[in-house]
Amino acid sequence: MPWFGMDIGGTLTKLVYFEPKDITPDELDKEAEILSNIRKYLTKNSAYGKTGHRDTHLQMDDVEIRGRRGSLHFIRFPTAEMSNFLSLAKSKGMAQLVTTVCATGGGAFKFEENFRKEVNMKLAKFDELDALIKGILFTETHNRSECYYWENASDISISEEKAFDFSQPYPFILVNVGSGVSVLAVHGPDNYKRISGTSLGGGTFLGLCCLLTGCHTFEEAIQLATKGDHRNVDKLVKDIYGGDYERFALPGDLVASSFGQMNSKERRNTVSREDLANATLVTITNNIGSIARMCASNEKIDKVVFVGNFLRVNPISMKLLAYAMDYWSKGTLKALFLEHEGYFGAIGCLLQFNG
Ligand code: ADP
Repeated sequence: MPWFGMDIGGTLTKLVYFEPKDITPDELDKEAEILSNIRKYLTKNSAYGKTGHRDTHLQMDDVEIRGRRGSLHFIRFPTAEMSNFLSLAKSKGMAQLVTTVCATGGGAFKFEENFRKEVNMKLAKFDELDALIKGILFTETHNRSECYYWENASDISISEEKAFDFSQPYPFILVNVGSGVSVLAVHGPDNYKRISGTSLGGGTFLGLCCLLTGCHTFEEAIQLATKGDHRNVDKLVKDIYGGDYERFALPGDLVASSFGQMNSKERRNTVSREDLANATLVTITNNIGSIARMCASNEKIDKVVFVGNFLRVNPISMKLLAYAMDYWSKGTLKALFLEHEGYFGAIGCLLQFNG
């Protein structure tokens, strides 16, 4: 104790902290002051400075891990702030108490030396895809409302979230949309393969959006996208055909060429930042949807689960993915989403630690 799982990603570091709630009076007596301070500190909302954030709405209470009952807390901060996090860990005396932190993600390798030198902590490293799947399976069995889908996916204006029973999960395609994208085919808890991926992921959306609109944060990019219309940026089938491309049943409103109007000076002069943000989001999302669908059809699997922080506060992408899966598969594929979207790697990591 205390138990942490850390997923140090290309953009965000996700930290899951297990707070035991079944502490006996005897344990309490023995508990060092420093530990009780850390507990109080970590569960305080103001603890993470300007860039860190505790997702209180995701907190899981009354969870049993290795025979202990307690709460899981979910914290994230930009990986670029790692040195501040390490100074904080040092100043709170965490290093005296925690000798090993379970870590996954590329940063578990990249920052291993920093953890050792700056706070004298060892990293117990776990593979990020193993951790991701372990985290999903654990969370799904401990949180009945974890899995959902978008009902009426074919009409984005009325589609809404509905619970999905994911208690019989296998087989499923798992699409992890972080900075980049990985696609896995999962046949059992220890039986999966990485079948595809793309570098055009959440990092690409955010990077391009910052370049094109001058925005600074993911939240700002999503807000802009919500108010924009990609049809002012993209070339649609009807811009080329004047209507539908009937022979191949391609509707006129379908995007034929993402950003395809932007070669025209006049069109560039009339387009708004909001339109550009929306077009960037739609371009990246549709590309991910198309790869996911091809993977599902190659593997003959009909459930496609999307996770990763790209989906955070991003119903536009979730609805688009749900619609794309449904439309292009003629209703045979189902897009599923999970409440703890970006935290599964960190959860899986915490579960694998048995020190
Ligand atoms: P990684 O492990 O590669 O960091 P994540 O699953 O954490 O991947 O997702 C990172 C992506 O999530 C970013 O590229 C961005 O699209 C999106 N995102 C969501 N919230 C934020 C945020 N607060 N700051 C930066 N990116 C965010």
